[in-house]
Amino acid sequence: MPDVIVKESKINGKGVFACRDFKKGELILKWDISHELSEEEANKMPDEEKRYVAFWEGKYVLQLPPARFVNHSCDPNTFVKDFSDFALRNIKEGEELTSDYSKEPEPNMNMKCNCGSEKCRGVIRG
Ligand SMILES: [Zn+2]
Repeated sequence: MPDVIVKESKINGKGVFACRDFKKGELILKWDISHELSEEEANKMPDEEKRYVAFWEGKYVLQLPPARFVNHSCDPNTFVKDFSDFALRNIKEGEELTSDYSKEPEPNMNMKCNCGSEKCRGVIRG
């Protein structure tokens, strides 16, 4: 049984969902960072792929599944550290995992937000 599963999301396209309970602070998902990009390569990516490029600790990394399907929320339940997603609070089995993309400031980011949170800022900017 995997810890997470990718399936249809109410927020946007596909999302990543917890297959078990996670405790606050627990490691959920280690990113596969084998696809590091130069700034030039990152800028050349088509728009559909660009949304999967994370800019973190000075590196451009093309996110692979399942990490690439973690949706943004203005009220997220995960945070990023050491190229991994950790639980920001206790997460229950079946919850969608979300991350605040504006904490990973990809310089050209300007995406409409559909997270549905009460704290929603409407637009995600780097
Ligand atoms: Zn939002």
